Amino acid sequence: MSAVIEARDLKIHFDIRKSFIEEVIKNNKSRVKAVDGINLEIKKGEIVSLVGESGSGKTTLGKALLSLVPKTDGTILFDGNEVHAKKGRELSLFRQKAQIIYQDPYKSLNPRYLIQDIVAEPLVVNRLVKTAAEQRERVIEALTWAGLTPAEDYLHRFPHELSGGQRQRVAIATTLIMKPEFIVADEPVSMLDVSIRADILKLMVGLRDRMGISYLFITHDLSLAWLISDRIAIMYLGKIVEIGPPALIVGDSLHPYTRALIDVMPHVKSSGKRKKSILKGETPNPINLPSGCRFHPRCPAAQDICRKEEPVLRKMKDNHFVSCHLAENFAAEG
Ligand code: SF4
Repeated sequence: MSAVIEARDLKIHFDIRKSFIEEVIKNNKSRVKAVDGINLEIKKGEIVSLVGESGSGKTTLGKALLSLVPKTDGTILFDGNEVHAKKGRELSLFRQKAQIIYQDPYKSLNPRYLIQDIVAEPLVVNRLVKTAAEQRERVIEALTWAGLTPAEDYLHRFPHELSGGQRQRVAIATTLIMKPEFIVADEPVSMLDVSIRADILKLMVGLRDRMGISYLFITHDLSLAWLISDRIAIMYLGKIVEIGPPALIVGDSLHPYTRALIDVMPHVKSSGKRKKSILKGETPNPINLPSGCRFHPRCPAAQDICRKEEPVLRKMKDNHFVSCHLAENFAAEG
């Protein structure tokens, strides 16, 4: 199956402003490598989860795929065409097909607008409907797809009259109204009550099944990724360190960082005889990245080579890729 979206050796680096004296007199700028050489493709109807701690670069990668932040280097292809080269009508068409769902349904909806106006806004901005009747029909259709039924009951309500789950469904309806092919869902359930999370995830999977939508599902919660993904990518300090099907990532992981994430997941037993590892320390400052493997200051298995040479992402088996010098040893140990 062909890729809907693909990043090739993507880099997004930012200059961080230091104090006036450091910057002007010492000519000293700091650079954050938020995304640092990522290759990732998402196929039609595929759900790929991007998992990692805060500051790993997940959201920056998601926004870059939508051309919402500038890239430093590399290529992003949507349906085979370079995203960051798009301008004018081409860019507008891309933005219709590639959408984002934000984390916070309380902030993403304008509190002064009626639900019918919030959901219709993308149609109005892009001048995609000619009559009020057509607009109403499309809004009702999108609300229904998002599971807000009967949709007519929601048209004349304000966001504050809805529950958190209903608001997130409205946010999803504003993306569905454009009939997208690809959605970046950035922590879409993390602000919701636990009881509502499963419903929203089921809705997303149902939309994938019915409409063939592809997702990049950004989360810090590996158990959620495990539930809904076709593949899981583990991200650490701007790099993907392990990627593969959920059964291999959760049941047979080979990267010590992934293993530490699994060991704090509820209801998952570690495979083989290995000891549980508890992640120590904070994520290093992305301005001063560690030498060699970026995970080595926190890795319980680190060896000399890890401090000197940066590992590359390489294939282990069946669509399972790992970036660790000792992956073969871990595979042999089980
Ligand atoms: Fe740990 Fe070394 Fe593997 Fe990095 S390369 S994850 S430091 S064992």
